[in-house]
Amino acid sequence: MKKLVILGAGAGGTMMANHLVKKLNKKEWSITVIDQERKHYYQAGFLFIPFGSYTAKNVTKQIAQYLPKGIEHLNIRVDLIKPEENKLIFSDGKEFEYDILIAATGCRIIPSEVEGLDGIGWRKDIFDFYTVEGATALAEKLNGWEGGNLVVHLAEMPIKCPVAPLEFVFLVDWFLTKRGKRENTKLTYVTPLSGAFTKEKTSEILGHMLTDKNIEIVADFAVEKVDPEAKVLHSYDEKTVPYDLLVSIPTNMGDELYEKSGMGDDLNFIPTEKHTLKAKNYENIFVIGDASDLPASKAGSVAHAQSEVLTENILRHIKGEELLQDFDGHANCFIESGFGQGFLIDFNYDVPPVQGTFPVPGIGPFSLLKETRMNHMGKLIMKWMYWNIILKGVKIPFMTSKMSLKGKKL
Ligand SMILES: Cc1cc2nc3c(=O)[nH]c(=O)nc-3n(C[C@H](O)[C@H](O)[C@H](O)COP(=O)(O)OP(=O)(O)OC[C@H]3O[C@@H](n4cnc5c(N)ncnc54)[C@H](O)[C@@H]3O)c2cc1C
Repeated sequence: MKKLVILGAGAGGTMMANHLVKKLNKKEWSITVIDQERKHYYQAGFLFIPFGSYTAKNVTKQIAQYLPKGIEHLNIRVDLIKPEENKLIFSDGKEFEYDILIAATGCRIIPSEVEGLDGIGWRKDIFDFYTVEGATALAEKLNGWEGGNLVVHLAEMPIKCPVAPLEFVFLVDWFLTKRGKRENTKLTYVTPLSGAFTKEKTSEILGHMLTDKNIEIVADFAVEKVDPEAKVLHSYDEKTVPYDLLVSIPTNMGDELYEKSGMGDDLNFIPTEKHTLKAKNYENIFVIGDASDLPASKAGSVAHAQSEVLTENILRHIKGEELLQDFDGHANCFIESGFGQGFLIDFNYDVPPVQGTFPVPGIGPFSLLKETRMNHMGKLIMKWMYWNIILKGVKIPFMTSKMSLKGKKL
């Protein structure tokens, strides 16, 4: 019996288990899914926790509940990979062999990468919302907020869900307005990028929205350190931004196991072939989701698009056939803009966010690059879609893994 191992049972790993269990010959292949956690988080829901719209409970389920029958599930941390021996080393020292490995370990925030960020101010007046604990602590802080200097800060790219910091600043504007605290609050968005977002046209639109909402943008800010006593952010070129409350998106990194195993880049992301999803340096290791170094967005929607291509490529690898070059970097992201409105953007490696309708050409119901109520509804519906359709690998009509240009224009 040959062994296919999926390392990580978050968004990408769970989708792969659900796809592959239907496709692999059970007499020849076993599937093992390994995760250090027992809980699976709907991370897109973390955005809403600081504003009291969701709680931790609303975004948490058991990993086992979403894995298919007929696979093995191990709840343990993998500390090391020995790719030349096709072996994993668990945190209890045991070894585990594989024939094919799918790395689906995602990425996480590492606050210690910025001096002073996780010091005396952490979870006192410096918060994150990229973890369930951070988002929950921030909810409590915002609940008692009377006003002051609120700074939303993005340390460095890449981060998962690159639109989430902007969504946060739009939502905090809405939240404080609703509570009568907006007039007492100066909102500042600090980013290492030269504009609001990574994509030019979208950056222009969202940049205008920041200005319209009286949110100051400080661009090209390469953070050097945080002084938690003086409550000031410092950049390498000696710019400073004072804060009373700092909401930071710290450096995002892949799991440290790739550093130990000599498999990762500087940020512990795995060098991956852009179109096939095979790890660049290994014939029997594939990567899905945030763990790769691909220039695609680190988003659940991207892992969803990748899961279809990767399933086909795993089957081709097993048959000794050439891999499909079919992953085009397709990403599809709802962007909350506050006051019950939202945007939707659709793009890939080569095509910037387009205008038009989604998913049905000429019909919608969602509008691309436009602020609508329906797009906001779409964002809210995603939670149900995630647990009931997306994780289970169920095909969604009109949703294609490759970006379609039908009914869309640049
Ligand atoms: C605030 C926020 C908002 C977001 N909003 C959106 C959105 O609106 N739309 C969207 O598409 N995406 C969004 N995302 C991004 C989305 O959640 C991620 O891109 C997606 O979860 C990535 O899936 P993954 O499988 O790569 O990693 P994950 O889902 O993070 O899963 C990784 C799994 O690997 C396990 N693991 C890691 N290392 C080890 C190890 N050494 N041993 C054992 N197990 C290990 C972890 O425990 C984890 O369960 C958001 C993310 C955040 C934080």
